[in-house]
Amino acid sequence: MSDLLIRPGLADASLLPRLLAERGDGLARLRVVLDAHAALRNSSLSISARNAGVPLLIDPQTYFLQDAPASSDPWQDVPFASTRAMVPGYYDHAAIDRLIADSTRFQVERDATAVVLPYFFLGRMETGWMDVQASVWRRARPVLADLDVGLPIIAPVALDWSRLSGSSPFARGEQLDRALRALSPDEVALAASKSHLGKKPEDRLRALCAEVARLSAIAPVVAWSQGVLGEACVAAGAVGYETRLGYREALDMTSVFAAHRVPPKPGPRTPRMVYVRPLMRGVAKRTIEAVSANPRIWPSVFCLDHTCCAPGGSAMLGDARMHSVHARRRALDELDAIASPAWRWGAIADRSQVGLDLAARINRLDIRQRVDVTALRGMNALGESLRQGEGQIRTA
Ligand SMILES: [Zn+2]
Repeated sequence: MSDLLIRPGLADASLLPRLLAERGDGLARLRVVLDAHAALRNSSLSISARNAGVPLLIDPQTYFLQDAPASSDPWQDVPFASTRAMVPGYYDHAAIDRLIADSTRFQVERDATAVVLPYFFLGRMETGWMDVQASVWRRARPVLADLDVGLPIIAPVALDWSRLSGSSPFARGEQLDRALRALSPDEVALAASKSHLGKKPEDRLRALCAEVARLSAIAPVVAWSQGVLGEACVAAGAVGYETRLGYREALDMTSVFAAHRVPPKPGPRTPRMVYVRPLMRGVAKRTIEAVSANPRIWPSVFCLDHTCCAPGGSAMLGDARMHSVHARRRALDELDAIASPAWRWGAIADRSQVGLDLAARINRLDIRQRVDVTALRGMNALGESLRQGEGQIRTA
């Protein structure tokens, strides 16, 4: 059975207790992940998770040390932040031990039920930060032992999609692979950037899924920040996937760094996306509203699950975040219920085909924001190729 890890933000503080109260009612296997600054700014988020007895992870987001966010960025409030971009050479053993200790204490003090180790984004050609990441993994167990922290250890691996294609382990990062094996974490959080994009999305997705399968031999793998490709990663053997609710449902580190270099904009936020189960992703609310006026397409879009949304699907727009969590959980439940890997890939192929057909109908309408079908194309092609035979991906 796979886990759904949701990442509520500061704007979700009132949603969370309401959502977690329903856990016994079909929302089992849910975990909460908080951005470090969100856990710092609003303690009710972690308190809600603790009161509900839900596993809680606090993401230290230490990749922001590589490309310092604006001084007014909320991440700058965490005790291990830096207003200037750090260089790999700064991180000798003492600095690494300090970062592990400071970020661990921060998580433990806020009731995290596992420790998310510091991690850095490894771009295509990155070598300096790769060495720092390997050192973090080598130093983590002794540092946590000194702190007397016995919580499970989660090791995020954050890298550009290109490092997974070709000759992974981590494309020319053999020492990284050795350090991860030596650490033997309780779980690996695989955060691949831009795996959902590209002219040939099936190639990127195949590389991602092959890495899920390969890393699963070291530790259980969670697909980190993969709301768009989460089901495919679970079909490949991930024990779950993590996503935000209705925004940034896929990982693009270039945009993440760019968005945080400038001060947060005042004024109203863009409305969140609404998860449409047949499309296997969130879609702009404005697009859904336009579709709701079309009697020929709307019946294929609105939420049919009466335990999730009121008949007619209006709740899907009115309470989109609750709907998103329920609908994502149901989609995972149905995938979990399929015993054979090949049949799971068959289900991914069939679901994505339904999505592609529906997206084509929606995109023919006069709408401003079209449905992006890149990820659907990748899942469809990969699912079709793996539904035959054993359903196993060849790994490096
Ligand atoms: Zn619903």
